[in-house]
Amino acid sequence: MAIIVQKFGGTSLADAEKIRRAAKRVIKAVKSGYSVVVVASARGQQTDELIADALELNPNPSKREMDQLLSTGEQQSVSLFAMALDAAGYDAISFTAGQIQMMTDSVHTKARIKSIGAERIQKQLDEGKIVLVAGFQGIDENGNITTLGRGGSDTTAVALAVALGAKECEIYTDVDGIYTTDPRIFKDAAKLEQVSYDEMLEMASLGAGVMHSRAVEFGKKYGVKIHVRSSIEEKEGTIIMHEVPQMEGVVVTGATVQKDMAKIDLVNVDNKPGNAAKIFASLANAKVIVNDIMQTEVSSKKANLSFLIGISDLTAAREAAEQIKDEVNCESIFIRDDIAEISVVGVGMRTHYGVAERMFGALAKAKINIDSITTSEIRISCVVNKNQADEALRAVSVAFELDKPPQERTKKD
Ligand code: ADP
Ligand code: ASP
Ligand code: MG
Repeated sequence: MAIIVQKFGGTSLADAEKIRRAAKRVIKAVKSGYSVVVVASARGQQTDELIADALELNPNPSKREMDQLLSTGEQQSVSLFAMALDAAGYDAISFTAGQIQMMTDSVHTKARIKSIGAERIQKQLDEGKIVLVAGFQGIDENGNITTLGRGGSDTTAVALAVALGAKECEIYTDVDGIYTTDPRIFKDAAKLEQVSYDEMLEMASLGAGVMHSRAVEFGKKYGVKIHVRSSIEEKEGTIIMHEVPQMEGVVVTGATVQKDMAKIDLVNVDNKPGNAAKIFASLANAKVIVNDIMQTEVSSKKANLSFLIGISDLTAAREAAEQIKDEVNCESIFIRDDIAEISVVGVGMRTHYGVAERMFGALAKAKINIDSITTSEIRISCVVNKNQADEALRAVSVAFELDKPPQERTKKD
């Protein structure tokens, strides 16, 4: 029997009524002849609440204990979900990550999946059961519970779809698909029927919280069909898939904002071979994930090096930068934790010009200052003041007509 993986996000499981509604979705797939594996996130805002509980007792809790604590949310969800299915007359069994050998590395709070033992799940499916797996969590080789980073249940779902050779991975959430930009900020955003893995990967890693970026990475690598859709309405959502020819004609697919960021500038570092390597080795050693890197030569002897990081890594990154400062002869370290990054993304940027001008023009018109700019083949990002982030996203969204689906926008060339 073909397998389908269905993932339900926290808001879709917030109360008993919502769990019952989610269970109906699962039952519908079973009735259509699928073997179903369900991945569930912690209910409602539970992960945030657990974090707040931890911080009340300890402002700097150990990451191992955080994982131990946060993983309990997903464990509750899957067992409650299994009970709801049982009450509806369907055989269901729930598992934690440890019970199905969802093996990860040992980087607590942002672990990466290494392998999954699919046999136990397959056996239950073969016996006709619905299998529920706690999202977001894993287990390392020493038996410690790990978590995959905020929003990580999406990654559990796609990884399971790969391990089980599932036909499709459905991501049920509180929006009815992927939009050109966050509809909570730009209410006129248009829904996309499809989006390429590459674009979604950029959008997800640049702040589009609707999908965890590692999930898209897995999807791309193994060609998993990912369908992001509403847990409330029945209609079709958005398919994440390989690029199809007509996508190339679209210059900008979407825009994103990332607010939980900080920027570190190492000012006047000695401009000589090996210094950048030393700085980034120090950051890697502190397990800091670095986003955008910018380096400029300011004279033949000196260079400025800046990088963006997630705000949760700021303490570790600051310490790592301080440690390496003298060795690279850095004059001063300048830190900004009041920034946000606005990005526009589209595979069509590879072959079209004028995108940068349009983006900068929109920000200028809205009187928003740009702190720094980075680009890739398919995106342009600007760092702005955090208190202007939403306004900046709206200005850029209007400039690129993100209220219209790509095929309905004005052709520029
Ligand atoms: P879940 O709990 O189901 O995992 P999330 O809160 O993680 O849900 O993701 C859904 C949210 O992602 C939406 O409510 C929306 O505000 C936000 N979002 C950000 N960017 C986008 C986008 N481009 N398209 C759709 N939703 C987006
Ligand atoms: N519950 C986790 C979080 O809130 C994982 C997830 O929702 O995917 O980040
Ligand atoms: Mg999510």
